[in-house]
Amino acid sequence: MESASATQSAPPASGNGASAEGTSIEVHRPVDGSTIRSIPVDSPQRVAEVVGRVRAAQAEWESIGFTGRRRWLERLRDWMIDNEPRLADVMQEETGKVRAEAEAEAPFLSGTINYYGEHGKEFLAEETPTPHILPLKVKRLRIVYRPYPVVGVISPWNFPLILAFDDAIPALLAGCAVVIKPSEFTPLSTVEMVRGWKEEIGGPDVLDVVNGIGETGGALVDEVDFVQFTGSDRTGKVVMKRAADTLTPVSLELGGKDPLIVLRDADLDRAVNATATGGLANTGQICMSIERVYVEEPIYDEFVGKLSEQVRKLRQGRDERSYDADVGAMTTPAQAQIVADHVDDARSKGARVLTGGNRKEGPGDWYEPTVIADADHSMKVMTDETFGPVIPVMKVQDADEAVRMANDSRYGLSASVFAGTSSEGEAIARRIEAGAVNVNDVLTTYFAMGVPMGGWKDSGIGFRHASYGIKKFVRPESIVAPRMKQGKRDPLWFPYTSARRKLINRANRFINARGLRNRLGL
Ligand code: NAD
Repeated sequence: MESASATQSAPPASGNGASAEGTSIEVHRPVDGSTIRSIPVDSPQRVAEVVGRVRAAQAEWESIGFTGRRRWLERLRDWMIDNEPRLADVMQEETGKVRAEAEAEAPFLSGTINYYGEHGKEFLAEETPTPHILPLKVKRLRIVYRPYPVVGVISPWNFPLILAFDDAIPALLAGCAVVIKPSEFTPLSTVEMVRGWKEEIGGPDVLDVVNGIGETGGALVDEVDFVQFTGSDRTGKVVMKRAADTLTPVSLELGGKDPLIVLRDADLDRAVNATATGGLANTGQICMSIERVYVEEPIYDEFVGKLSEQVRKLRQGRDERSYDADVGAMTTPAQAQIVADHVDDARSKGARVLTGGNRKEGPGDWYEPTVIADADHSMKVMTDETFGPVIPVMKVQDADEAVRMANDSRYGLSASVFAGTSSEGEAIARRIEAGAVNVNDVLTTYFAMGVPMGGWKDSGIGFRHASYGIKKFVRPESIVAPRMKQGKRDPLWFPYTSARRKLINRANRFINARGLRNRLGL
């Protein structure tokens, strides 16, 4: 396989702070390895300049208020809708996605703008708590939510637009300026969105993009006031350590190893169809992809038979705008290598490859949609993130064993449970250690904006969507002000005197004790 979707003249490693200064990124087509174009890498100095520029524009952006900012984001939504086919072309070319999947991203983000446009104001509304003790009744307490001035968004290659803008949009609505550093493998979609914002929409100078790998990403972490990172847990730890130097808060959306449990009473056909989609959509390159399946013994043989039959029928290929492929290319050669390694490891340890199981010959990065039976936790394919078109299935004796196995992971992003009834499924969901669980469904927790999406354990820190997805970009500012005319001196101020102290001690007792006799000290 000779294709690569992005290479650099400097060391191409990610997650290790590899120097990218003075080089350019060559962006490739994963479907055949050919070059799309080169883009310059942004040096730390340039990152500082860009952050400085958007920082200068942020105060005015904050001052126009939520409604003013929403109007700008609605222009971005309309621009995305008008330019959808072109955005999908850019996306498809740099990712190797099939058309249906390349077309899914911009519409999802229109939904993000609408959701936070409708609910953001309420999520960020000022609060006026009631003073909790009598002496404070003379004060008006207020909590005001103020934005972090500049948010740095560092994003991965598997959903180039969604995983940058699903955070950038609420951050902008909250009043922050945003600088995005997209993946070196797929920068062109973000570059095009930012170009649209600046040149076609004429948006305020509060959104920009910088390109590069570790050096550029690290410089962004140094310059901004909040870091929103989506990517591998390995790089997430590097980012968090770097952010510690400047005490910059981080939100980390990291990898997963999502389990799917099929109980004996489940609708088998629905479970099979959902497993195929959940495991292979986006060529299995979704953080919430179904990466391991646990099926109860009485239905195990039928399940694996139906699943492999269904997966065998899927059409893999490049479909341009024709919608006649289901599974696309893998976006990076390194990921294709990991997939091959996991499948070979499972094979060598006794698992049965029922369909697929090979890289395709010829140019580009292609791995066949694969179903593996008789997998177990001695195999990498059941413990490490595969992030490719592979569905390993393991037989379990009962629901308890399924839950135990599902929880036997350092990851905890999301999970799926297929059961005979919703309530049975929900009862299992409450025992799963993950940030989100779908009952008789897959992937839907991401699309349900009203619930938070984020990882437990090594899958991350922080959440997107619901109120969490916008409130993380603001800091509470507490304002305490008088409700009435005040005297020259408050009782607790200097100078301390014995008479006043005695009075205060009596007042403290009256306030804090419970029961009239105790309060009066009788
Ligand atoms: P990655 O960690 O290799 O890279 C992510 C981003 O970090 C890229 O933009 C990269 O250039 C940048 N980066 C690399 N080194 C850096 C450094 N030293 N400092 C700052 N930034 C640096 O991840 P990837 O391979 O692009 O994406 C795949 C991973 O992302 C998978 O593990 C997947 O599960 C995860 N992911 C998580 C979610 C989620 O929401 N939880 C969503 C999608 C993908």
